Amino acid sequence: MNANILIVEDEKDISDILSVQLQNKGHNVEVIADGSEALERIQNQNSSTDLYILDRMLPGTSGLEICKFLRMFRQTKNRPILMLTAMTRPEDIVEGLDAGADDYITKPFDTNILMARVRALLRRAETIKKNSEEEKKGGLLTLNSLKVDTNQCKAWIDDRELDLTLSEYKLLVSFLKQPGKVLTRNQLVEYIQDGPVHVTDRTIDTHIFGLRKKLKDYSKIIETIRGIGYRVATSES
Ligand code: CA
Repeated sequence: MNANILIVEDEKDISDILSVQLQNKGHNVEVIADGSEALERIQNQNSSTDLYILDRMLPGTSGLEICKFLRMFRQTKNRPILMLTAMTRPEDIVEGLDAGADDYITKPFDTNILMARVRALLRRAETIKKNSEEEKKGGLLTLNSLKVDTNQCKAWIDDRELDLTLSEYKLLVSFLKQPGKVLTRNQLVEYIQDGPVHVTDRTIDTHIFGLRKKLKDYSKIIETIRGIGYRVATSES
């Protein structure tokens, strides 16, 4: 897939390397070094960008603010965002993810890893499109042999129906709706928080533990991102 990628990065060395690598893969790349200029460009474009790569610390508007804007703006709210950051503390990373980034890479990074993340995010965009069309049709979400019927609130692996609690079911749905995205505990709490039951981020770990147990061999699709949250792999990874 040839994608249109917007890189917002003020370190020229980094944006040069990224541009060359991405162009070699056949992608169209645009680089903007200033945050405010990027924000203006995003507001005035006709939303043809397939993926945003945002540095976090930028002159003008920060990557975090751009990220929040992309999520609020109707034309871009579902587009994948990869955040680059020199900040490596889990709380800084969680802040970026809670602002709406799908994934993050800490500097300095290996370009092969970055390219793999880009591939995963572009693939994820395809899966989401497919799943949202299928869900509109019949309420079905799928990931390999995992299947969820959101009309009946039932889940299966192959033909084995899973006996899930409501929280486990909701977690599974939020993972299948956002494959490849790193979901923070805060975000997962929001997804399953409903009604009088109080959910904390510790409870999330317990529910994930339960869900994994029921998924058996399939539990490896849920990856733990230490100190941050969880991610479900897209089909190829
Ligand atoms: Ca920077």
